[in-house]
Amino acid sequence: MTSPTELPAILGGKPAFPNGPPTWPPVPWPEMEEAAARAMRDGSWGRYHGPNGRQLVEDLAAFHSAEQVQLCSSGTVAVELALRGAKVGPGDEVLLAAYDFKANFQNVLAIGATPVLVDLDPKTWQLNPALLEEACSKKTKAIIASHLHGGLVGMKPVCEFAAERNIVVVEDACQATGAMVGSRRAGMTGDVGVLSFGGSKLLTAGRGGAVLTSRSDIAQRIRLYTQRGNDAYPLSELQSAVLIPQLAQLDQRNATRLKNAKRLATELERQGLPLLPMSPLNCESTDQMAFYKCGFQYTGESVSRDRLCAAMRADGVALDPGFRALHRTHSRRRFRSEGELPQAGHADESCVMLHHPVLLEDERITERVATAISRVLNHATKVATAPEPRC
Ligand SMILES: *Cc1c(COP(=O)(O)O)cnc(C)c1O
Repeated sequence: MTSPTELPAILGGKPAFPNGPPTWPPVPWPEMEEAAARAMRDGSWGRYHGPNGRQLVEDLAAFHSAEQVQLCSSGTVAVELALRGAKVGPGDEVLLAAYDFKANFQNVLAIGATPVLVDLDPKTWQLNPALLEEACSKKTKAIIASHLHGGLVGMKPVCEFAAERNIVVVEDACQATGAMVGSRRAGMTGDVGVLSFGGSKLLTAGRGGAVLTSRSDIAQRIRLYTQRGNDAYPLSELQSAVLIPQLAQLDQRNATRLKNAKRLATELERQGLPLLPMSPLNCESTDQMAFYKCGFQYTGESVSRDRLCAAMRADGVALDPGFRALHRTHSRRRFRSEGELPQAGHADESCVMLHHPVLLEDERITERVATAISRVLNHATKVATAPEPRC
């Protein structure tokens, strides 16, 4: 095993993980081959509609206890459909975190509404429910609550706030598919939830998404918008076919990822490394997080955040900077916000996230990852000035 005093790969040492990060999706994945082969054999792969889409809708509905499931072509489209289902339109305002997936901001603009950016809770780096009041106006129609990097938004205060004002809560569970928020699945605590089946996500078909809701008015509006004689944002039979067995494995994989994410956080703390978990130790005990990305607040100073990530990638660990904050990457004319957004700015500068496949490995992996980080930080001065690695 890598010793913490050896040179890290960015300085010419042997990479801690010479084969690089584990691939996603894993190869081979026999259940996927079987599902695809079955769709080939029965001809459903080439049809508009068939048994796979129907089965997936049924399974997602049962898994989430959702009355209505609308499959669609991406998670981005799913968020747009959820907003349309909530009757958001030109002149309306939508509250969302100033640190969120860029497409959520773009979706609000795409339907002619104005994004209103809300700062994060410094303890969890998720949308801060305590700041909704000051951001809200008469034009507020919806809140996008997006669970990010393994953390969970405090949905109870968000939903209570929204219910008192007749505001629709769109719960973005694209990064938290299968997580439990109290007694409900992520996506089912608000009025309408969204999932992504994109190529890096916990359930993947390369592309795809779904909208979940138990509100028939929202489901009906989405149907009217998407069904134009044919489905305008379809998920194919072949995509559905591979998602069915993945959903059946999701709880078990999420449990493994959660266990390893907690171990990793403990190991980083034990080694005294400057990466604080965004979530594992911060969540309510009844919740159960799901880790698409395992996010950390990087508090080190000897090596910049971006340099640490570059060094870790050279060592074969998929550690990346988090999102850019939305207020720093968009013109002020595009959005409204109340006051400064210091926590979102802080997340913009110091969030790092580990991609999930490594958390599915043997439990000793967590110590190896922590040791690789420690090795880089032990050579901070040289790492800080090493030439930019080519990748
Ligand atoms: C991935 C993701 C989406 C949707 O992504 P698609 O690639 O369009 O499927 C939406 N919100 C969040 C938070 C995401 O991480």
